[in-house]
Amino acid sequence: MTRLIFAKILAACLFLACLVGGGLEMRGLRTYKESLVKGPGVTGTGRLSDYLPALKGSWGDTNLYFLDSGKPGGTALILGGTHPNEPSSIVAAFVLVEQALPEAGKLIVIPHYNRSGSTATQPMGAYPQFISIKTGWGEQKFRMGDRLANPLDQWPDPEVYVHYPSRQMLSNVDMRNVNRTWPGRADGALAERIGAAAMELIRREKVDFVVDTHGAELLYPVTNCIVAPDQGASIAQLAALDLTATEFEVHVEPSPAKFRGVSHREIADHSEAVPFLLESPDPFLDQPTGPKTEALELDGKDEFLLAAARRGLLFTDYDEKGKSMEERAGRHISVSRQLAAQWSLFNPERIVAFSCPGYAEFVANGLGPYFRDPAAAPEGSVVLE
Ligand SMILES: [Zn+2]
Repeated sequence: MTRLIFAKILAACLFLACLVGGGLEMRGLRTYKESLVKGPGVTGTGRLSDYLPALKGSWGDTNLYFLDSGKPGGTALILGGTHPNEPSSIVAAFVLVEQALPEAGKLIVIPHYNRSGSTATQPMGAYPQFISIKTGWGEQKFRMGDRLANPLDQWPDPEVYVHYPSRQMLSNVDMRNVNRTWPGRADGALAERIGAAAMELIRREKVDFVVDTHGAELLYPVTNCIVAPDQGASIAQLAALDLTATEFEVHVEPSPAKFRGVSHREIADHSEAVPFLLESPDPFLDQPTGPKTEALELDGKDEFLLAAARRGLLFTDYDEKGKSMEERAGRHISVSRQLAAQWSLFNPERIVAFSCPGYAEFVANGLGPYFRDPAAAPEGSVVLE
């Protein structure tokens, strides 16, 4: 055997080893199921495809949880996991399903709005595949997903993504971004079908307001904030004032009138519901950081961002304490509670009220105490997400 043939066989073996090794890792993430325990507030469950049968059997279908107080009032829809690489949003939605108690009106919670995107990490991003939160009974493990729907479920991307129905031209990959495909299209691509199903849910369930939870870079101006259209500006401002005075700084950004496809614009323009989009500052998402590790996602501590903070380059406060998952997930719940309180003052005939541990509790006790042990849960209460 010549040296050349030997080198070719060796290269082919290395290629196959990478293919099989990488493929097994991808398959592990794609098929891993998170355990969620339905808490005492949950009164029913459903699927997004109940509102658009064309989603049934696809990776865009996902679970809904109803928390109905049984008392008259309004309805709030809380979306987690629109961008699965912003996991504080999914963590907050899990805690809501496991711990929230509705007191007036009804909550609908979707922990994995972009379930497809939660089954793939960012290509070439060197992301961790999972993040785990320590609890008294073991670890609550979450998939670490990507911002976009999994290319296995929607491919190829067009040259230019033409948003429906505005015909505004957007970046081609945003065709897989479920926060650029509102209000959706029932016979469109997967991400458009997800938007159409959610709009139908909002109409059929008479949703009064929607909270879409996210994480954002600290080097990005739209962070640490509530994004609201005109219809929700007063409610958002009062919620922000109250929280800034009592718990943590948060401000309001207006929803741009011509920025199409985003929840805070299209839900306002195509339904009776008022949308709010929440951004928690997430250091993992910033580009100039150290390695993208599970620890960075959980504690948000990074020396390069600290250097940027000292030079006044960040759009939020930042110090050695980082921005922990406790703070970020807690903000989503505390802001949602506060928006419900302000909503109810403006709309006394459509009150929404619920209790749930949030920012103060998570910062004081960690997140561990707020996840229920699936092994000790009553029969029938564990759902695989
Ligand atoms: Zn986002």
